[in-house]
Amino acid sequence: MKLTKKHNDLNLYIEEDLIEEIGAIALKHYPNEFGGFLVGKYSSDFKSVEITDVILPKKYKSTPTLFLRSTDGLEGVFQKLFEEKQQYYIGEWHTHPNGSSNYSTTDLDAMIENANCETVQIKNPVLLILSITKSAVRDFTFYYYDNEKLISYEQ
Ligand SMILES: [Zn+2]
Repeated sequence: MKLTKKHNDLNLYIEEDLIEEIGAIALKHYPNEFGGFLVGKYSSDFKSVEITDVILPKKYKSTPTLFLRSTDGLEGVFQKLFEEKQQYYIGEWHTHPNGSSNYSTTDLDAMIENANCETVQIKNPVLLILSITKSAVRDFTFYYYDNEKLISYEQ
């Protein structure tokens, strides 16, 4: 089963199983924030994006209110994913333990920085934020980055 979210005719597809998998990873790191990379592919008209997998960072810093991931050591992983499955970097995800799934100023600044990064080939990366408690994923929101703004996908 797939979720579809629309914004200006844009669709985002993700298997519920994958969201559950991300949630399970997230809860293991409670009370610290945690996150990683979203990978998948766009349709040929770039109107639809399908998130098919996540890649976890090898190096990161995390506290209950901060998550900083590094791409160090993952170059080969992304390369292999592209060569073998034609999938590539779609965006980022991280948790807000005991917080909402709204993005923070820091989150927006990080997305602006990512989008301006030469290695990021897509103009509209996705940001997924999961609101978690000690025992469960409370809520999650997918955002679409466009021109220094984050716009949430609607359910
Ligand atoms: Zn955040």
